[in-house]
Amino acid sequence: MSILIDDELCTGCGSCVNNCPYSAIELVNNKAKILPSCNLCGACVEPCPVEAITLKRGAQKAAKVDFSQFKGVWVITEHYKNIIHNVAFQLLGKGRELSDILGVDLTFVILGANFDNELDEISKYGMDKIIYVKSPILKHYYSDLYVKVLSELIIENKPEIILIGATPTGRDFAPRIAKKLNAGLTADCTGLAINPETMNLLQTRPTFGGNIMATIRNPNSRPQMATVRPGIFKEPQKVEKKVSVKKIDYAFEEKDSVSKIIKVINTSKTHVNLEDAKIIVAGGRGVGSKEKFKLIEELADVLGAELGGSRITVELNWLDPDRQIGQTGVTVSPKLYIACGISGAVQHIVGMENSDVIVAINKDPDAPIFHIAHYGIVGDLHEILPILIEEIKTINLNKE
Ligand SMILES: Cc1cc2nc3c(=O)[nH]c(=O)nc-3n(C[C@H](O)[C@H](O)[C@H](O)COP(=O)(O)OP(=O)(O)OC[C@H]3O[C@@H](n4cnc5c(N)ncnc54)[C@H](O)[C@@H]3O)c2cc1C
Repeated sequence: MSILIDDELCTGCGSCVNNCPYSAIELVNNKAKILPSCNLCGACVEPCPVEAITLKRGAQKAAKVDFSQFKGVWVITEHYKNIIHNVAFQLLGKGRELSDILGVDLTFVILGANFDNELDEISKYGMDKIIYVKSPILKHYYSDLYVKVLSELIIENKPEIILIGATPTGRDFAPRIAKKLNAGLTADCTGLAINPETMNLLQTRPTFGGNIMATIRNPNSRPQMATVRPGIFKEPQKVEKKVSVKKIDYAFEEKDSVSKIIKVINTSKTHVNLEDAKIIVAGGRGVGSKEKFKLIEELADVLGAELGGSRITVELNWLDPDRQIGQTGVTVSPKLYIACGISGAVQHIVGMENSDVIVAINKDPDAPIFHIAHYGIVGDLHEILPILIEEIKTINLNKE
């Protein structure tokens, strides 16, 4: 898609300027001029009284891109209250692996206001470079500012791979950037690898309701962009190494953002943090009822674990929605995951298979959960769990 202004017809009346929601048109020598921030929304076409503006839709012939210009792996951060989301560090672990295979630098990109004192600690996560774009307005997430700054940085530096957390924030800005740069983007990846022959990024993600895993490659455009859900990859071990930091003091203009944050309101009612939990006890339909879920809660309690469950238990109102684990819930990777009365549907498995140790309790010896469990107990959870709880209580007592 492209937008064209016929200079011969344009009278410089300014109606397009007034109607552009992105302030992406200005008058130069009394003629309308489209600025790089144009996102081709077409809002200027209709108001032009002399029909000087045309939006050309339809398939564009892809321009031949010289891939050799694109080098490096980038991980883009997001943060809330000046705390970087864990997914960014997890992506650095995977990013290191990919950049080592490609023999290129791994760069961590931060858009923020107050990270100067954090940079030493951040630089222990194994990247080679940090690009820190600094501005007071970047204290909060602004969709259009992220798109503007990151698109500019990407055009200037030409990274070949860009990794972003598949959080609500990442899911907001990643596709906007991909659209702007005509780049390929694969959302919600659960696996990333490099094809040893083509050196293209292989991006694996569940599809068709999680029933199959598709591996997507992006051979015709650069950069190759992927979002990855929190909990899929492990954070790397911290290392002491020299990291080059490029700080950019960015001066935004008012027209750069169509929105203004007046107040940040946290609407989350609970403080469930399954993504960081070390132990999770999860219940499925096999638990039987909301009342019987108390047994699962009791096991979680004696273990100091977080409580989770399958989607059915949320649908049956046995469990709060923010405790659902799986494809449409949270992805977790605790040290210990105890699945009680969970069959092991693929949509559940994709959310917990990266746990260090998986224990499954199920009365069906053929339940698919046993294919991925490290330890399995075949039997009725209502008989097994009280024994387990008593044993753990005794161990806890002996420890005191
Ligand atoms: C698009 C899509 C997205 C989805 N997203 C998710 C998701 O994010 N998370 C998710 O979990 N699911 C998700 N699902 C649903 C998923 O397909 C399964 O239906 C669900 O995970 C099954 O939950 P379950 O294992 O608790 O129940 P069931 O499959 O009914 O399994 C119950 C298990 O309990 C065992 N059992 C019964 N009684 C006992 C007992 N007394 N003691 C021991 N074991 C017992 C049974 O043998 C059985 O294996 C999704 C589905 C779709 C189509």
